[in-house]
Amino acid sequence: MRLIYLALIPALALCACKKVDSDMAASALPEVTVPEMSEATMKEVTQTLSSDDFEGRAPGTAGEEKTIAYLTQKFKAAGLEPGNGNSWFQDVPLVEISAKNTSPLTVTGKDGTVMSFAERTDFVAVTYQEQGKIDLKDSDMVFVGYGINAPEKGWNDYEGLDVKGKTVVILVNDPDFGTESLDGEFGGRAMTYYGRWTYKYEEAARQGAAAALIIHDEAPAAYGWNVVESSWTGPQFYAQTENGGADQTKANGWIQKSTAEKIFAASGQDLTKAMAAAKQKGFKAIDLGVKASLSFDNDFAKKNSKNVIGILKGAKRPDEYVLYTAHWDHLGRCTAAPDGDDICNGAVDNATGTAALVALAEAFKTQGAPDRSIIFLAVTAEESGLLGSKYYAENPVYPLSKTAGGVNMDAFSMAGPAKNLTVIGKGKSQLDAFVEAAAKQEGRSPDAEPTPEKGFYYRSDHFSFAKLGVPMVYFEGGEDLVNGGTKAGSALAKDYTENRYHGPKDEYDPNWDWSGVMADLRLYYRVGRMLAMTDSWPNWNEGDEFRAIRDKSRAEK
Ligand SMILES: [Zn+2]
Repeated sequence: MRLIYLALIPALALCACKKVDSDMAASALPEVTVPEMSEATMKEVTQTLSSDDFEGRAPGTAGEEKTIAYLTQKFKAAGLEPGNGNSWFQDVPLVEISAKNTSPLTVTGKDGTVMSFAERTDFVAVTYQEQGKIDLKDSDMVFVGYGINAPEKGWNDYEGLDVKGKTVVILVNDPDFGTESLDGEFGGRAMTYYGRWTYKYEEAARQGAAAALIIHDEAPAAYGWNVVESSWTGPQFYAQTENGGADQTKANGWIQKSTAEKIFAASGQDLTKAMAAAKQKGFKAIDLGVKASLSFDNDFAKKNSKNVIGILKGAKRPDEYVLYTAHWDHLGRCTAAPDGDDICNGAVDNATGTAALVALAEAFKTQGAPDRSIIFLAVTAEESGLLGSKYYAENPVYPLSKTAGGVNMDAFSMAGPAKNLTVIGKGKSQLDAFVEAAAKQEGRSPDAEPTPEKGFYYRSDHFSFAKLGVPMVYFEGGEDLVNGGTKAGSALAKDYTENRYHGPKDEYDPNWDWSGVMADLRLYYRVGRMLAMTDSWPNWNEGDEFRAIRDKSRAEK
């Protein structure tokens, strides 16, 4: 994942204005000296992992075998110990499900007229169930607004509804989308987890729906239909479960907004009005009075992928932990570029972050073990929905209640040194104080992400830990470049997202300027080292969505 740079909104004051406990004041943080960090390591690991030989590092392929063998060797050489008993690995059981022979989506109106929608152009659908055949027949369609059940906010779009066997139609993002400020039940224009599509499908399954269809809308989704189409067709990875996904909906999918408009019109409803109504507290779901049918076949195969774990034991409190995470996986073979290149090498995303794990391990070893232990965790299947990090968080090798916090690294900026850094989820936790102190020591300004409505905080591996209460920071080099300022920075960022991001041209470039990367690496070092040298337990800020679960986890330790 890396799509943080997009619209640049200059001079935006984005203070979430939440209380920060005074014991986390930057002045109380330990002093850190940064040892020499190896640019040669960053280059070598990035170049090796993104070579065609590694075939784009898709989970369950020969590319995975090469990747995990290479990483183990680098972790060992850096002086780490195996992080899972005697093993460098944690097995992550996955199931690969590929849909085929997908029928059109047909919608039968009250008067018996049938509308037919084509796969890929009008809709996409997959199943999370290990079923050879999915057959949805005449399933009543219900519009459930944003599909949110948030008892702590007194908000329930499913209030009084029984959606068993039905197809729920859902809006993407959350009810505060479109507001300017950061005030509101759902974080104002900042997206909350209730706005993510993953949440929508989770809740629909909890409600017992047969199918869940999200209405695609470019602005609140933060990406175009092309991304939906390419991501939701072809083989999909899910976590293996004991019940083979029996508690999931039969089908999860997306429909184009134009498709939704036609369905609403056929049921005598107006989509625009329904969307406005869905933003209001007390919104009542709308029975569309039409029936959906859809079928497809599935091939499925169980595969074990692996997280790679190394540990540097703490000198004073080895049973307290600090995490560094980066995903090693990428997209593997993918849609070919015009020149025939069909390997998505993922050099920036995320060979760079993985290389940083190795370079940081070397630096920590050079400096000597800090008080707390450091876990270097290279996770699999981030690109398939944060599956490797989710698996670790749900099956932690080291207790989460004893994990003080962590730093996630996903795709370094290759644009050269920047005067600022972009902090995703600024205002969420007391770790902000650590980031601010590190930035200050490096003479850089820690800016909030310019587009919190895009929900980046929920789109990389730190979120798997946050969801279970562990405070995690996620930041990277900003766009205000030392050479050329924000104009140059945003142009380079745009070039990356348009021409390389998740495509075959995210490749290693021998002409890259690594000075910005090395400056960012110093920040990651400082934050992790400070956290490993303090005896404080930073928490989520008062009122944050993850605070209650952390309090509970720490109380149980
Ligand atoms: Zn990534």
